[in-house]
Amino acid sequence: MNAPAAKTRFAPSPTGRLHLGNVRTALFNALLARRLGGHFLLRIEDTDRERSAEAHVRALEEDLRWLGLDWQEGPGVEGAAGPYFQSQRTQRYETLYETLRDRGLAYPCFCTERELALSRKTQLAAGQPPRYPGTCAHLDSEAVQRRLDEGRTPTLRFRVEPGRVVTFDDAVKGTQRFRTDEIGDFIIRRADGSAAFFFSNAVDDAAMGVTHVLRGEDHLTNTPRQLLLLEALDLASPVYGHIAMIVGDDGAPLSKRHGSRSVAELRESGYLPLAINNYLARLGHYYADNSLMDLDTLAARFELAQLGSAPARYDEQQLRHWQREAVAASDASVLEAWMPAEYRERLGPEGARAFIAAVRANVGFPGELAEWSRRLLDDLPPLDDDARAVVEAAGVGFFEHAERALDEAGTDYGAFIAALKRDSAAKGKALFLPVRVALTGLTRGPELGAVMPLMSAARVRQRLATCRTLAENAAAAGGQ
Ligand code: GLU
Repeated sequence: MNAPAAKTRFAPSPTGRLHLGNVRTALFNALLARRLGGHFLLRIEDTDRERSAEAHVRALEEDLRWLGLDWQEGPGVEGAAGPYFQSQRTQRYETLYETLRDRGLAYPCFCTERELALSRKTQLAAGQPPRYPGTCAHLDSEAVQRRLDEGRTPTLRFRVEPGRVVTFDDAVKGTQRFRTDEIGDFIIRRADGSAAFFFSNAVDDAAMGVTHVLRGEDHLTNTPRQLLLLEALDLASPVYGHIAMIVGDDGAPLSKRHGSRSVAELRESGYLPLAINNYLARLGHYYADNSLMDLDTLAARFELAQLGSAPARYDEQQLRHWQREAVAASDASVLEAWMPAEYRERLGPEGARAFIAAVRANVGFPGELAEWSRRLLDDLPPLDDDARAVVEAAGVGFFEHAERALDEAGTDYGAFIAALKRDSAAKGKALFLPVRVALTGLTRGPELGAVMPLMSAARVRQRLATCRTLAENAAAAGGQ
């Protein structure tokens, strides 16, 4: 099999539900892979066994699939570069640790958490960046053995060559330079034997043939460490692009406090995948075209050069905007499924379809569809002040004419309006608005031509009578 031209990946740690920040990372990588005609790979970074849970893995796979972000390599699909769970790659890591040790580039470190914390504190107090002080960097084999014999379990540290500058071209942020003197030797294997993030993340990208890594800016300072590791192991490094974080109104990283919700929560409240994808694709990536696009179109127009480096502000209003666009473009079956069963059954399949067609432009969420169902198919809810004013202005006579027009034309809206116009002599707003209020209880809403035939003549009659009574009462109270 030929290797794909390009490979991107999403590499979540399965420690919780997917939220908008990490889904956007997944989306950008999936779009870039499609754009480059390559593979999108899913790798589960579960080296931290205590915090990782199988249930989270299943949930994030479900979320990605629901969004249409299918992976061409990864759990359940496999591929030549597997396994795709880091917890199953320990043996591979051991071989690479051996290589680094053989090259004198890694050493066991016996420093305790307390010792390290103390050293950090001292350095910070002296105004220096906290770095590993090098306590174990030059232990001879006897000293190492003595400590092992005492039953101490070491971490493994990577030796960072001092006095160098690590340079790389970030696909989003441009040229980056980091001095190794500010990095210091870092842990690549924890004392419990598990791989540290810097290490497993970088070597797996190389082993899996990942060519492009788009990830959050919070990983920017990890990159020089990872490049040093890859260089020490003669492994290829990917193109890195660090995307600006999503922030809330106050400029702080997006969190629940800003109303951000997990993908699962959004799905439960009725958001459609297309809405989420269109919103997130534009959060930190510029598209000249503001119309709703499917994933293929979003991918075809995805450009690394259009990734912004300014923080992307989360805006619930925008998300809702894309939801309305997505609902308007979606198949009627999506909305039919939102309709409470009681009304679907009452209308029958054809009636339900006609109902959806009538109200869909006014619906963004399942709750709104339920509300329109109740409003149009059950008793007229109480009128608000605006609607009441319309009824009072129309007056008793208007509704008497309307009741007679109904006798004559039935629920054929065109014929009904023609008869009412002829008899009442009302026109324009004065004709249509009171009819709208009588039928729907509101001053705005779906096309009446589509709504009226969905209602029985008896229900329309009852609503017209209710409005007539209201107008009568108002007239009486006005002393006329
Ligand atoms: N497991 C890391 C995370 O979830 C992956 C970071 C990366 O994309 O390199 O933050």
